[in-house]
Amino acid sequence: MPYFFRGRRDWLVFFAGLMLWIGIGIDSHAQIQYQSAPPEAYREVWAKGDTRRALAMINRLIEERPELERIRAFRYLLWLSDRAALQMQMGQVDQAIADLEAVTEMIPEPAFLLRLIEAYRYRGRKDEYQETLKRATDSTNRRWSIHTLEMNLLAMGRIAEWNGENPKMLLSSLYTSVMENRPEFAPGFVAAGDLSFRKGAYDLAETYYQQALNVDAVHEEALAGLAETYWKSGDPRLEEILKPLIEIHPHHPRAIAIQVEQHLDLGDAEKALELIEPILQTNPNELHFRSLQAAAYFLLDDLDALKTIQEQTLQFNPYCSEVYRIPGRVASRHYRFTEAAALQRWALEIDPDDYEARALYARDLLRLGEDEAGRKELEQAFAADPFDVQVFNMLNLLDALASFDVVKQYPFVLRLPKEETPVWADEALALLRRAYELYREKYKIELNAPIQVQIFDDHDDFMVRSVGLPGSIGFMGICFGQLITMDSPTARTKHSMNWRSVLWHEFVHVITLQKTKNRMPRWLSEGISVYEELEFSPACGQKMELQYKPLIAEEGLPGVAELERYFTQPASATHVMLGYFFSAEFIKYYVNEFGTDRLVNALERIGEGAKAVDSLAAACERTVEEIDKHFKQYLEERLVVYNHLPDIPRDKNALVKWWEKVTDEKPDMEPWLQKNSPFTDALRKGTQALKEEQWEEAETELKKAHELFPDYTADNAPLQQLCLLYEKWGKREKWKQALKQEIEWNATDFDACRKLVAVLREDEEWDAMVRAAEWGLGIDPFDVALRKAVYEGLVKKEEYARALDALRRVLALDSARRVDYQCESVGLLMKLQRWEQAKKETVALLEDMPHYWRAQELLLRIVEREKRDE
Ligand SMILES: [Zn+2]
Repeated sequence: MPYFFRGRRDWLVFFAGLMLWIGIGIDSHAQIQYQSAPPEAYREVWAKGDTRRALAMINRLIEERPELERIRAFRYLLWLSDRAALQMQMGQVDQAIADLEAVTEMIPEPAFLLRLIEAYRYRGRKDEYQETLKRATDSTNRRWSIHTLEMNLLAMGRIAEWNGENPKMLLSSLYTSVMENRPEFAPGFVAAGDLSFRKGAYDLAETYYQQALNVDAVHEEALAGLAETYWKSGDPRLEEILKPLIEIHPHHPRAIAIQVEQHLDLGDAEKALELIEPILQTNPNELHFRSLQAAAYFLLDDLDALKTIQEQTLQFNPYCSEVYRIPGRVASRHYRFTEAAALQRWALEIDPDDYEARALYARDLLRLGEDEAGRKELEQAFAADPFDVQVFNMLNLLDALASFDVVKQYPFVLRLPKEETPVWADEALALLRRAYELYREKYKIELNAPIQVQIFDDHDDFMVRSVGLPGSIGFMGICFGQLITMDSPTARTKHSMNWRSVLWHEFVHVITLQKTKNRMPRWLSEGISVYEELEFSPACGQKMELQYKPLIAEEGLPGVAELERYFTQPASATHVMLGYFFSAEFIKYYVNEFGTDRLVNALERIGEGAKAVDSLAAACERTVEEIDKHFKQYLEERLVVYNHLPDIPRDKNALVKWWEKVTDEKPDMEPWLQKNSPFTDALRKGTQALKEEQWEEAETELKKAHELFPDYTADNAPLQQLCLLYEKWGKREKWKQALKQEIEWNATDFDACRKLVAVLREDEEWDAMVRAAEWGLGIDPFDVALRKAVYEGLVKKEEYARALDALRRVLALDSARRVDYQCESVGLLMKLQRWEQAKKETVALLEDMPHYWRAQELLLRIVEREKRDE
């Protein structure tokens, strides 16, 4: 890899000298690019955004004072420099290059050279780009007279980065020194932020941009950088940063680019094109916006327009892989991975050095389940840029994944940590199999195989595998169409997830994504998955949470076309959850009203390229207005129980406080529950009566509370308190019923499962006991007591084959009693008359422990049996 200057040491020595220089101090103002510049009228015009007039004004100045060119006057140089900047903004790149060539010929300062380098690159003039990069790198001229020292240093940093210099070293040396020596110089922090951003280190980028904003609260590039960081990392604070930027500069290209991306995320290509149009009018060669325009036409399925833009762009710059890479990235965000991968392949054909395209390509391949090919591409991307955080994380993850077990059972390929396989791999596959048979028929689809399912015992690994970034604890599973990734319960807080509901939900995504060729909007996919989860068990899916009430009161009920916004532009984490809830309710309404076949028909239309909302309307032969009207009526009925909850505060201040709370990931509902309402009153009275052991009163109030708002499932939920009440009161039958009701309503109440199993065992209700224990194993597949309960229940039911499977799982978990279990296994084999295997296992046992009497006895019985058979 090429290094800046001849060797790292030279570079550092030189750099230390520069820092001393800074220490002495040079007179410069924080925001001024040049060391000093005479006031020019065109600058004001330029600042107001009228580039055309500003350019005309400079041209006139140059014409009027030809003598300044001859003597290479300082003022003339600044005109050329400014003119080049204006020409770049207007897409007159060749003219800008000519001016910059003239300027750098006279004054080869890094800040000028950097601009020339970037202009050549922009124009696709690769040879000149490389020559100038080399010239800038080799230059020993340090008499800088035009730009401030800081500006030139930052330019050197960028040149070093183009040369592949280690960004960590650049940050800790050059940028840190600029920031420390010039703490009032915002561009220093911005440059450090930009570098971190480009390497995918978003936390770090955020810190630097914030520091820049501490120096200058309205620094446009700091705001733009922070907005892009928030956008890339899906941070909900994006809007609060974008707003001031747009207020200061309504036409800021980076702000507009983010807005365009947001529209593209929403699938609203027309709106994106509206925003792009005026920019391309000023600058038809704006490559980034050309690429975004190409992405918009991709979403519109206008492949001719897409191709035309790509060809025109390549005429301007034959290496502009961006015009394929960005549509590919957008395709990927819309889950259209096959097309995304094809677009990235094109991008790489145009520029094999576009490592960003390569990294995206690798991720598309991984999402298509092509791990082998994806890994190769990732390794190449890593070789080209070993500092990209996401690529690095992903490669580490693939190493971890390589140590996983692979269990194949057509059409599924399951990968999971070795120690988890004997415990629950078969159960996961059995559940998948059941969903596969059920939905293949219901949704009329033959699935593409194999379907990869990857289960992680580390949440960050799961997130890196899925989206390239660790964190986001809210996610438990993600589906990409032919690949499901998810957390194992071992990756989560104990007893906080039910793997059955997660896996069921994700598998339904496989069905609907494949059915629509990955063309469905997120809300519809989530809506159907949650709806089917609820069909699987009412304990699963989405509950109607308390915290939705104020949101709904404030924002009203959505129409079908508005559901996607809860996912693509959520104002808070609670909004996303509300989006799941509304979407599932929509599916419930739609299926109840029109039947499953219409829904399936709508999915088929989406798969053929029609828009989701139009397809849903066409399939049921209604207008969108009619659908919205009836859906809202349905919702109003569904939400009527919210009337039993406290009202939201009326005065504005209190409401604002409310917002702060509900926008938290886990809002604190306690203060609200203190207020009066039929539900909270009953809950409070019931809780108090239970505490005072006033059993009858507690029972009445808690039952009332449950009826008033059944969706409440927190720890003090009425049903959970009723279980406790009956247990303490000694009402055994009622306790049993309450426990049953609780586990049919709450997918993660492990304690209720455990208690119910104990009660059912005493009552010798083996069938119900096995079911309750198996349900509990959805929450904790590693619980030995529940595993044993399943085994014992099956033995009692005389289902020996299943009992044998259950026993193997107990054995995998409780190795201390291995020998006992092995004997029991032999006993089961004998009951199943599998003599041969029974004998083999007993002999093996005796080889280990020749004096084990129980095994000796077993062997004797087997041999006797054999004699009798002869
Ligand atoms: Zn989902």
